[in-house]
Amino acid sequence: MSYLAPAGTPVALSDIAHGLLNARTGSTASQEVAQAVELLTGTSRAWPVSSGRAAMTAILTAMRETASDQGRTEVVIPAYTCYSVPAAIGRAGLAPRLCDSDPDTLGIDIEQLQRRDFSRTLAVVSSNLYGLPDDLPAIEAICRERGVFFLDDAAQALGAHISDRFAGTFGDAGLYSFDKGKVISTIQGGVIICNRGALAERLETIAGAFPAPSALEVTSIILRLGVYSVFLKPRLYPLIKAIPFTGLGETVFCAEYPITRLSAFQSAVATRLLRRLEHFQAGRRRNAAALRQALQDCPALQPIRVAEQTVPSYVRYPVRVRNPRKRSLILNALTRAGVGATTSYPLSLADVPEVRAQVPHADLECPGARELAASILTLPTHAYCPPDTAAHVRKVIDQCTT
Ligand SMILES: *Cc1c(COP(=O)(O)O)cnc(C)c1O
Repeated sequence: MSYLAPAGTPVALSDIAHGLLNARTGSTASQEVAQAVELLTGTSRAWPVSSGRAAMTAILTAMRETASDQGRTEVVIPAYTCYSVPAAIGRAGLAPRLCDSDPDTLGIDIEQLQRRDFSRTLAVVSSNLYGLPDDLPAIEAICRERGVFFLDDAAQALGAHISDRFAGTFGDAGLYSFDKGKVISTIQGGVIICNRGALAERLETIAGAFPAPSALEVTSIILRLGVYSVFLKPRLYPLIKAIPFTGLGETVFCAEYPITRLSAFQSAVATRLLRRLEHFQAGRRRNAAALRQALQDCPALQPIRVAEQTVPSYVRYPVRVRNPRKRSLILNALTRAGVGATTSYPLSLADVPEVRAQVPHADLECPGARELAASILTLPTHAYCPPDTAAHVRKVIDQCTT
């Protein structure tokens, strides 16, 4: 029995060995990964930190502290995105506000964003889910015109671009994540990027004051990266999937997370992985193209719209199930067939109790986000997918829906 993980990055044991050998030179390792990200994205400054959430908390704190109007305490986010986003907003002492998501593109609903009252808004956050860039030029234009910050959350979209501009580099500051299901993985990790003068200066102060992770945390990361490296392979993945406490694939709202620098070990591993980014991307894009081709006329599914000039990083391949009542049928059939399909985040943020309790009633009407939560299905695109994956997926879906 073999099983394709929903998402992942092939980390070689030699990457881990390299990380261990280079971990002694802490600040050098950190500078190297920062430089690699700067070079890759054409940004002038980058700061490696312990997670995407930590990056988001730092950026929002910097925005709050540099804003001219201290009455701006709200952050507008798409109602369908990672639950870590509202958690990070709370950690920065700010309040989330929900704007509906557009189910056709997965991004924030641009028309609704345009109509919003921004009088208490500090910033707008993008989502770039599964590595598909949102309409970032449109969000950037709205934010600029209305005088609010734009945080381009490219946690899942390292390397994705619109024309020649990378996701994460739109607006005032951005971030990438190195968590388990992201474009590259060091188990946890993230990077802040920022070009803007005053904001970058504040970020330097904030991120510069982050403590180093504890030896215990780093040891735990090293061991987990070893397990990840070995067990991501389809023949071994079923063993790890069977262990309940790994929490694989679960989505929970959690506001407790460490905010530290990225360890030297993870920085050294990330630098190695970034050198292979183009290779990872080419493979994922090839697998996504094969899935698109194989599923384009599948009556049960509806493809997600990708705009012209947009090149996603496809950390997963998302589709929508036309009849949401059939989704669990399809999911179960694919799971039995060894394909790590997922239904992604189970709820719109408007239905997550911890978020629901914090936002005004008017924000709870999010038909687009609810539709997405009920209909989305993600398919794996990673390097361990065999060449016949797309055809296999099509066959399984046809068999269970006809
Ligand atoms: C994963 C993710 C985050 C948070 O990143 P972590 O490294 O897991 O903290 C933020 N936003 C989005 C859209 C994500 O997918």
